[in-house]
Amino acid sequence: MTAVELLLIGLAVLLVVATVSGLLLLRGKPTQPRQPDARTQAPVLERPEVVEGRLARLRGRLARSQGALGRGLLTVLSRDRLTDDDWESLEDTLLTADVGVGPAQELVARLRTRLRAESADADARQVLREELVALVDPSLDRSVHTSGRDGGPGVVLVVGVNGTGKTTTVGRIARVLVADDKRVLLGAADTFRAAAADQLETWGNRVGVETVRGAEGTDPASVGFDAVRTGLERGVDTVLVDTAGRLHTKAGLMDELGKVKRVIEKQAPVTEVLLVIDATTGQNGLAQARVFREAVDVTGIALTKLDGTAKGGIVVAVQRDLGVPVKLVGLGEGPDDLAPFDPEEFVDALLG
Ligand code: GDP
Repeated sequence: MTAVELLLIGLAVLLVVATVSGLLLLRGKPTQPRQPDARTQAPVLERPEVVEGRLARLRGRLARSQGALGRGLLTVLSRDRLTDDDWESLEDTLLTADVGVGPAQELVARLRTRLRAESADADARQVLREELVALVDPSLDRSVHTSGRDGGPGVVLVVGVNGTGKTTTVGRIARVLVADDKRVLLGAADTFRAAAADQLETWGNRVGVETVRGAEGTDPASVGFDAVRTGLERGVDTVLVDTAGRLHTKAGLMDELGKVKRVIEKQAPVTEVLLVIDATTGQNGLAQARVFREAVDVTGIALTKLDGTAKGGIVVAVQRDLGVPVKLVGLGEGPDDLAPFDPEEFVDALLG
């Protein structure tokens, strides 16, 4: 073989190798994924959980946070002969759980009388259950009034100190209503923090609910007014209005909330004023709540973060102190972790 022939064979081999490896490289190269066209994509809406059975689902959390209180009470009551010291320690357990002095003394007196009067082998657990349910008061109207009258929308005004879970609660109520096929509109009347309106809008977008908002610093009353007017025009079932919870001065707060309500009511009556209270703030939260109750006619309490405190007795204290029923309880950070409050379920979770 001549040198030229050898060179030609070498070149041919090189050509074959280059072609084959090129083909392999091309095959291995991933193809670019097709980008979905955002303009043609409808937003994917979440399907919120219906409200029935929610407290049953969340009962585990209630039992976890409040179980120690129930066990503490049952341990004392299961003793054969209860001494004065035992009754005192029972009262202390109730006070530690934020039940409040008046209701704690009342409960201890009722238990003492009943357990003394009833036979020695009276079921202490059953007596305690009955008395706790009575203390929480099953006779109160705990329905959240989200429906309007005369064809207008129901208007729910949500008030409370910043950080208690107001916006979260508005978002969660919107989800409950959407799950129930109701048409809902949100009003972002906390115009002091743009982030608050953004947060509310995000809650709404997740379930296809629109938010009416104003520029930062707009008069909150005018946003409330616009929201309800828009709700009337659109024929929605419920308008949920989130408000600012700055505890600046008591007079300022009263003026502001009073005005929001008055101005809204030029369009349609406010059917529910929900005061949001953070259960973990105990007596301090209660003192702040009193200021709100004076500023606006509160019709129901949403007690949030009950999953984060063992002091579930606050349910009793809040109702007694404010004279308003606890209607909703927050039991976690999930979007559907808000449940209607039910005294019997609450006491049963507490007693395990
Ligand atoms: P706002 O300032 O009153 O509107 O309060 P937000 O709605 O922004 O809530 C403040 C924080 O509390 C958020 O991190 C919420 O996730 C949290 N939160 C609200 N409700 C609950 C609840 O029931 N349990 C727990 N663990 N966290 C909650």
